[in-house]
Amino acid sequence: MHPPSVDKLARSVTNTDLPHPVLVDVAREAIADGDHENFRSRVVAAERRLLDRVVNATGVLLHTNLGRAPLAHHQSAGYSSLELDLESGRRGSRQSSAATLLARAGGAEAAVVVNNCAAAVTLSLAAIAGSGSVPVSRGELVEIGGGFRVPDVIAQSRAKLVEIGTTNRTRIQDVRRALDEHDDVTAVLKVHPSNYRMEGFTESVEVRELADLDVPILVDLGSGLLDEACPWLDNGRPNWLGDEPAVRQTLEQGADLVMFSGDKLLGGPQAGIIAGRADLVAKCAKHPLMRAFRPGSLVISALQSVALAYLDRRGSDIPFWYMASLTISELKDRAAAIGVGEVAEMDAAPGGGSLPTATIPSAGLVLGGDHSAALRAANPPIIARVNEDRTHLDLRTVSPDDDAHIKDVVAHLC
Ligand SMILES: *Cc1c(COP(=O)(O)O)cnc(C)c1O
Repeated sequence: MHPPSVDKLARSVTNTDLPHPVLVDVAREAIADGDHENFRSRVVAAERRLLDRVVNATGVLLHTNLGRAPLAHHQSAGYSSLELDLESGRRGSRQSSAATLLARAGGAEAAVVVNNCAAAVTLSLAAIAGSGSVPVSRGELVEIGGGFRVPDVIAQSRAKLVEIGTTNRTRIQDVRRALDEHDDVTAVLKVHPSNYRMEGFTESVEVRELADLDVPILVDLGSGLLDEACPWLDNGRPNWLGDEPAVRQTLEQGADLVMFSGDKLLGGPQAGIIAGRADLVAKCAKHPLMRAFRPGSLVISALQSVALAYLDRRGSDIPFWYMASLTISELKDRAAAIGVGEVAEMDAAPGGGSLPTATIPSAGLVLGGDHSAALRAANPPIIARVNEDRTHLDLRTVSPDDDAHIKDVVAHLC
């Protein structure tokens, strides 16, 4: 029997939103593989490769595969005042909204927003360190993930890395020696080892010890916790934050610039923020790389909502902090109301390469057996965790609006 024509096969599936050219590609592949009988399931697989909303029942609040911080953002079609100064009617700056509000919220003189923290580190090194030498502790030459390695980032800027101290111990004397031995030091970089912990015989240089050196101190904070005291939360700083450093206090201790992500503990969209001394921030803003790293209005608008919530101390309007602050009894009540599987306590985690050893007491549902594939097949997909042949649905990371969907889907599994 002849295989069907590509066009005929492409038109044989009608209940799909995929455009015809994509269906043609899927049909062509199916025929080439001698697998046209499975065209329908190949179309479904192609649909599933599109970006889609998912329900995160993993308990990992900042899940790298699920877009890190949960994002609430709606925008209707239209223009924005992205670079228009409405007062004067002249050209304005896209850094006058979200960046200025975030600077205010984090106690910085000024800030600029770029596409992610990797860009923030690259830009600040290029603009501030130039082609000079930059001492960095050997204990902080970290890989953040996805191949983002501090030595490689420094190599990409024109700066020269000067390794100081040892893997486990670096002292202020090591920094001073580097300044004595190299007459071209243009900045000192300190990197927060976000995703691993060193224990035992360790020592690192505190920001306050660096404060009286005559070169700019740049601190890559990574996570973007704005203030150690968490004044935006009714119950103040949660215990699971441990000793995670914060923007406001790092600047108070004497950092000249801090760099952090928008979508980790800040709870916003993917972005990077450089905040600190106004003259240094202005240098970053004027650097030619800024043009390549600047975000668009969608990101700036989402970041502005988050910054306003921080300044208003409305932590519960930031989905990340709302979820992080839910009590176990609220979660258990929701689990019981869903009424399928077994209500159980479990451990959630901040995730996102921050606070690698921290857990957040949580609760949800446990089902016997591995149902992860069936849950992923739901619409919207539900992403769960499987441990020892039991499926865990942690409700901390599930919006209460999705409880009914979980109930529906799980009722059909068991
Ligand atoms: C996560 C992290 C980065 C990278 O941030 P992105 O926003 O993903 O680019 C850089 N530095 C540190 C210390 C981090 O924790």
